[in-house]
Parts: sequence; C-alpha cells; structure tokens
Amino acid sequence: MKLYNLKNHREKVNFETAVKLGLGQQQGLFFPVELPTITPFELSRILKMDFITRSTEILSKFICSEISKEELYKNVKIAFSFKKPLKISINNNISCFELFHGPTLAFKDFGARFMAQMILSLNKDNESFTILTATSGDTGAAVAHAFYGMKNIRVIILYPKGKISTLQEQLFCTLGKNIKTISINGSFDDCQKLVKKAFDDRKLKKLIGLNSANSINISRLLAQICYYFEAFSLISEKQKKNLVIAVPCGNFGNLTAGLLAKSMGLPIKSFIACTNSNDTVPRFLNTGKWDPHKTVSTISNAMDISQPNNWPRIEELFRRKQWNLKELRFGSVSDDVTKQTLKELFELKYISEPHAAIAYRLLFDQLKKDEFGLFLGTAHPSKFKNTVEKILKTKIELPEELQNRANLPLLSYNINPSFKKLKEFLLDK
Ligand SMILES: *Cc1c(COP(=O)(O)O)cnc(C)c1O
Repeated sequence: MKLYNLKNHREKVNFETAVKLGLGQQQGLFFPVELPTITPFELSRILKMDFITRSTEILSKFICSEISKEELYKNVKIAFSFKKPLKISINNNISCFELFHGPTLAFKDFGARFMAQMILSLNKDNESFTILTATSGDTGAAVAHAFYGMKNIRVIILYPKGKISTLQEQLFCTLGKNIKTISINGSFDDCQKLVKKAFDDRKLKKLIGLNSANSINISRLLAQICYYFEAFSLISEKQKKNLVIAVPCGNFGNLTAGLLAKSMGLPIKSFIACTNSNDTVPRFLNTGKWDPHKTVSTISNAMDISQPNNWPRIEELFRRKQWNLKELRFGSVSDDVTKQTLKELFELKYISEPHAAIAYRLLFDQLKKDEFGLFLGTAHPSKFKNTVEKILKTKIELPEELQNRANLPLLSYNINPSFKKLKEFLLDK
C-alpha cells in the first residue's frame, strides 16, 4: 500500500513507514494512493462472513502487498478479541450501534489494538519505540491497554488536567510499567500541539523512535472501517437501502473510517457529522469558512476539539471520489440539549452517555421518512458515571474493567504546556 502526504504529495511511503511515522513532513497526514473498491457481488459475499474473516478481507484490500493474509488474520483476531459491537433497537427506525464492549469500553479499542498488533508484526528488528499520544479521554486508555507490557515499546500519554472524567483517568493512569502518563495544565488542543512539536523535532524523533498512536495513524483508521461493514451486516434488506449513520465527532477519525467504508462500496446513504459546541466543522459546512474558536469544555469531553486533525483526509476523500461536501449532513448540540436527550433516551429505556446522545439527537431530528438510522455508541455510559447519574437520577453499575481500577493510585506526572518540559521528560524518563 502506498500513501502520500497531504501536505506534500511528493512524499510517498509504504504502509509500514506510515504506521511507524504517524505523520509525514510538515505534520502532513498520510492518505492512500489507491482507494480499493469491492463489487456488489463481493460485498454480499463478505457480508456473510464472520467479523474476523470479513475484517481481514477488508484490510487486505489496503495492505496485502506488505503482509500476508494469514498474518493479517492472526493480528485481526488478537486485536478484535473482545465482545463484538451490538445493535440495540431504540425505536422503529433508529438503533444504537454499540462499539464499546472492548477492554477500555470505548470504540477506540478497535483502532488502538489493531495498531499495536501491526507495530509488533512490522517491527521485525525489535527496534525500540516511544509512542507519544494526546488524549481527550478515551484514546489514552485504549492505547495504554493495547501496548501494556509490550517489549521495546514505551508509551507516553498527554491529557488535559481536570478535563477528563475521573474514571477515564483511573483507567489508564494506574497501569505503570511501560505506560507513562502526563497531565498537562491546558486544553486537549494544547496537548495535541505538544505532540505535533515533538514530531517536528527530527533529532528527537530519531533519538527516541517517536511514533504517534493518535487517530492520525493510518492503521487505526483502517481498523475502524471494519465495524461499518459489521453494522451493515446486521440490518435488514429494507434498512440497507436507506441507511443513515450519525457519528459523534471529535478528531473525525471515526467519520473518516465510515466514509472510507463507503468509498469502498458499502452503500451507506448518508452520514451525519455530529459535534458538541466545538462546532468548527458544522460552521465550516454552513459557511465555507474554516474558523476554529477556542476549545470549550462540555459534558461530551472526548469531542472537545476545535481543530480536528482528520478533517483534511475527509476533504481529500471527497475530492478524490468527486463527492460533494454538501451531501454530508451535520449538526452541533449544546450541553443543555444533550442532557435533555439523555433523559429522552432513558424514557425509551436506554441509558446512553453524552457522546452518543449527541448523535441520537441529530439523527432523530434529521432522519427522513423511509430512512433507517444508526447512531454510534462510542463509549460505555459508566465511563461518564457521575455525569450520567446526575442527569438521569439513577445509579449505573461499573463494569468489571472499571471496578478493578477505580481504587488504584494515579501515577501521572504533571507539567505546563511547554515543549521544553516535555522534551526533558522524553529524554529522561
Ligand atoms: C474519541 C471519541 C469520540 C470522537 O471520535 P473521533 O474519531 O476522534 O472523531 C467520540 N466519542 C467518544 C466517547 C470518544 O472517545
């Protein structure tokens, strides 16, 4: 698989390099030179397969030139070795597609675990790596757990102090061993900037074998394509004809993966790009002006991102496929409406959490007659226990994964958003 750098189309790399580098020169994102497609006949064939076999087929379309199908199958099987996504009916024409049954209870387990397996598999010479990543909540946990205990790999995770839920923090800042966590006195965008700066520092990058595990890493995106096919395989023939998927968006990796699935030939009628008040993309789609505001804190904190770094990939995909951006549906939802929506869902006997609730709101409001809608359940409600319990005035159970970690001491370091400080840390610890 060849990929080019969106900031400099002359920089071309293979999949292995793209996975190891994360970003190209000038912090450019990598994008596939060839966009593989499948015929309707092939589609109906793979829809009948089990999740692991089908996912291997899909991924091999992208990366078969660099890894054998057998090895890919092995990696996919380990990476996706947890409970499959579930489709839960909310009403006649809307279901939630729950992607949060992995070890860290968020959809990010798919991408992070596949990436970890691929790095292990591609790293034939046992080089040492430092995985440096910024998290607005769930990436950190998924990445930390995916790489925990792996030889030659050190993981460093930056997160905005006080801006992620206590339970989110407990989940990944209590591991120790090869996992180091740093709380930054700033916003998620500050964390992301620090990561980008580190990648810009060529000497440092080489010295510590820097790699990013953010959703900018192409391996994570590819893994996420697979569950859109799974969703499609679970719905009726009638629903398949008019499927609309609402995606709660932060860095827009999840939506990029969905659009890639569509570009391969999965006939999804429409996507809704859903944001909270950090609505750079909805405003852009409305006015054509890219005008990020300062990031604001919301109850859907994993989406508190005003400069979503996967957006250039979405624009590129639309350009390459000659799709019109006007076809992308969108919307943003305030905290107040998110709270009301959580209550509305609870009356329908469904306990959700703020991120998915935003997607449900926009799906419900925008779904047309004859359409069938799925909204993506991106995290387990218990990850936002305090928020959800306060709004719904009901108790929610902690799943085992969280219970086990809830009382362990936090092992995080804390620094100001200064690159000098981060660099000292990277070279020292
Ligand atoms: C990461 C995350 C999102 C946003 O996903 P992107 O791929 O960054 O757009 C939404 N909801 C939850 C719960 C998340 O953890």
